[in-house]
Amino acid sequence: MSNSRFTALDYILKRERQTFSFPEGKISDFFAEMTFNDAAMRDFLTQEAYSAVREAMESGKKIDRRMADQIAAGLKAWAMSKGATHYTHWFHPLTGGTAEKHDAFVIPVADGKALENFRGTELVQQEPDASSFPSGGIRNTFEARGYTAWDPSSPAFLMDRTLCLPTIFVSYTGEALDYKTPLLKALAALDKAATQVCHYFDRGVTKVSATLGWEQEYFLVDTALYQARPDLMLTGRTLFGHAAAKDQQLEDHYFGTIHERVMDFMKDFEHEAYRLGIPIKTRHNEVAPGQFECAPVYQEVNVAVDSNQLLMPLMERIAKRHHLTVLLHEKPYKGVNGSGKHNNWSMMTDRGENLLTPGRTASTNLRFLVFLVNILKAVDEHAGLLRACIASASNDLRLGAHEAPPAIISVFLGSQLTKTLDEIEHRHKKGVVRAGNDYELPLDIPKIPEILPDNTDRNRTSPFAFTGNKFEFRAVGSSASCAHPMIILNTIVADRLTKFSEEVDELVRGHVKKGDAIFQVLKRYITESKRIRFEGNSYSEAWVEEASKRGLPNILSTPRALEAMITPASISLLERNHVLTERESRARHEIYLENYTKKIQIEGRVLGDLARNHIIPVAIKYQNILIENVKGLKEVLDMESYEAASAFQVKLIREISHHIEQIQEQVDIMIGQRKVANRIEGAEEKALAYHQNVLPCFDIIRRHVDKLELKVDDELWPLPKYRELLFLR
Ligand code: ADP
Ligand code: MG
Repeated sequence: MSNSRFTALDYILKRERQTFSFPEGKISDFFAEMTFNDAAMRDFLTQEAYSAVREAMESGKKIDRRMADQIAAGLKAWAMSKGATHYTHWFHPLTGGTAEKHDAFVIPVADGKALENFRGTELVQQEPDASSFPSGGIRNTFEARGYTAWDPSSPAFLMDRTLCLPTIFVSYTGEALDYKTPLLKALAALDKAATQVCHYFDRGVTKVSATLGWEQEYFLVDTALYQARPDLMLTGRTLFGHAAAKDQQLEDHYFGTIHERVMDFMKDFEHEAYRLGIPIKTRHNEVAPGQFECAPVYQEVNVAVDSNQLLMPLMERIAKRHHLTVLLHEKPYKGVNGSGKHNNWSMMTDRGENLLTPGRTASTNLRFLVFLVNILKAVDEHAGLLRACIASASNDLRLGAHEAPPAIISVFLGSQLTKTLDEIEHRHKKGVVRAGNDYELPLDIPKIPEILPDNTDRNRTSPFAFTGNKFEFRAVGSSASCAHPMIILNTIVADRLTKFSEEVDELVRGHVKKGDAIFQVLKRYITESKRIRFEGNSYSEAWVEEASKRGLPNILSTPRALEAMITPASISLLERNHVLTERESRARHEIYLENYTKKIQIEGRVLGDLARNHIIPVAIKYQNILIENVKGLKEVLDMESYEAASAFQVKLIREISHHIEQIQEQVDIMIGQRKVANRIEGAEEKALAYHQNVLPCFDIIRRHVDKLELKVDDELWPLPKYRELLFLR
C-alpha cells in the first residue's frame, strides 16, 4: 500500500541529484549591486538630489516635492538599468512579516503607446488599504486608509525586477501600524540621550547609532517530507513525532562538516544576499541535526532589521531550488534544540567608537562603565517589557526548555566586570585625577583589565549577556522580526540615559564636581540594579529558586508576559520617549494576544484533524491485522499453544484500544475547550483560556499518538518520522 510518507521517501530516493554552479568572481564584485547604494546614488542622482538623500539619511531632514521628483527619476533610471518593471513600497506590518504591493512603472500614452513613469509623490508616499492588516482596533474607529512613507535611511533594493522602497506604515490618523515607525523613533531617542551622555566625556560626538548583528538559526527539511507533514506546513512545527533513537546526543552535528546539499543552498542564498547588500559572514551547523545558523557583520539597527526581514523570505525562496524547506519556527521538533535569533547590540558614535568597548584611558574607561551600568539599570527596571517583546506562542516552546535562555530576564557580565562593579560599589572617593580637557575623575575608578572579546568567559545560558564589546540578547525567537526587541531595548536605554544626565546635572548644579557626580550616580545604579546580574547557570533549577527570591519574574506564557506592555510604567516609558502612544501600545498588546490565540487555535485544529484522520484510522487498521492474526492462530493452534502465541498480540490490541480511546476523548475535550474559549470577548481572557485550557490537551494527545508511532507497523505509519525529517539525504 502507499501512504504519503512512503511516496515522499520514494520520491527522494529516485530524485536525480542536481548540480549547482556558482559565480567564480569575488564577492566584492557583486556585493550590493541590487541596492541603491552610495555608488549608485552618485551615478544616478544629480549632486543636489544626492545631498538631499544623504541629509535625509543622516539627520532625518525632510525631502521637498521638487527634490523628490528628481530622486524618483534617478531611482527609476537605476532600477530600469537593471531590468526593473515595477516598484513597491516595502513595509513591516504587525503580522511580523513584510508587505508589498507592486505597481508597474508603465503608463499608457497617446497612440496606443506606453512609457515608464515614476514621480516623486509615488516615491514618497502611498495609500495602501490598511483594512486587512492587524491594527488592534485602531482602524475600527477611524478610517481604513493607511499610508506608507519612504524611509531613506534604509537602502532601496531590487527584487524580482521590482524596485522595493523601505517605508513606514501608519494609519490615516497617524498611528503606527508597523514596526519601522516606532523603531525609527526609538533609535532617535537613543541617539539624543546617548549623545548627551557622551558629551560628559567628549564634546565632539554629534551622533550615536545603535548597531545590531543578528544570528539566524533555522532548520532545513526535505520539501517532499515537509509536504507529507500537514502540521509542519500549517503550523511550522511538528505536533506529533516520537524522538529518533539518535538525534543530538553525540553532539556530532554542531560545527560539523556541512552536508553537500546544505552547502549548495547556503552558497546560493548567500550569493543573493550579497547582491542585496546583506553582509553574511558566518555559516555553520547548529546543535540539532538539520539545524544551521548564519550571521552577518553588524549594521546600524534599522538597516540590520531590514536585512533580516529581507533575508528570511529570501532563504525560503532559494531553498525551493534545492528541494529544501526552511523552518524558521522556534521549536519545530520536540526534544531537540530550538532556534533563536541572538540580537548582538551595541552603540557607536559618529567617530566610529564602540561605546561598549572598555576604554584605554581613564576617561574612556569611565564612559564605558557609564553606558554599561545604565544598560544594567534599564534592563532591571524594564525586565518585564523585555520579556514581553520576545513573547510569542512559538517562543514559549523554546524559552526555559533547558537548551534556550530561560524566561527569567537576567544579565551576565563575566567575572572581570563583575569584580570591577563590585569594587566601585564598595569604594569611597579618595582623590581625583585630571582626565582629558575639562574635568576631573575620581581616583578610585578601578582599572578595567583589557577584555578581549574572545577572552570573556562565555555564558551560553544567559538571556542577555555581555560578550566583550556588545550585549547579546539571546532570548529573541528565530522567526521573530528583530524590530520589537530593538524598539524596546533602545527605548529603555534611551530613557535611562536621559535620566542619568538629569541626575548628574542636578548634582552639578548643587556644586558637585562633574566627575564626582557621574561617579555617585553610577555607584547608586550599580547597587540598585544588582539583582538583575547573574553569572551562574541560567538553565538550572537553583536559578529559578534564586530568581524568585530576588523578585525577578519567571513568566512562562505569552498572554501573561504581554501584560507588561500595558502597565502604567511601560505605557509612560514609551510615551515620554515618543516611541508609542498609549493607544498604540494598547493596540499592539491586543494584536499580540489575538495572534497568540489564533496560533494555538490553528494548532488545535490541525492536531485534532491529524489525530482523527491520520492516526486513528491507521491504528485501527493495524489493530484489525492483529485481530485477524489472533483469530487465525486460534483456528490452527490448540488452546494451550494459542494462548502463548497470541499473548503479545492481544496485549498490543488492548494497548492500541487504550490509546485510541484516550485520543478520541482528549480531542473532544480540546474541541469543547476551544468552543468555550471562542465565546470569550476580551482578548486577554481569550488568550489565557487558550493557554490554560486548550494547550494542555496537546501534550496528552501527543503522548498517546507518539506511543502509537512506536507500536503500529512502520509500513502503515503515514507521517514522516523524526529520524527521516532530521537527517537530510
Ligand atoms: P558568536 O561567537 O556569538 O557567534 P560573533 O563574534 O560571531 O559571536 O558575533 C556575532 C554577531 O555579533 C555578528 O553578527 C557580529 O557582527 C555582531 N557584532 C560584533 N560586534 C558588534 C557590535 N559592536 N554591535 C552589534 N553587533 C556586533
Ligand atoms: Mg553569539
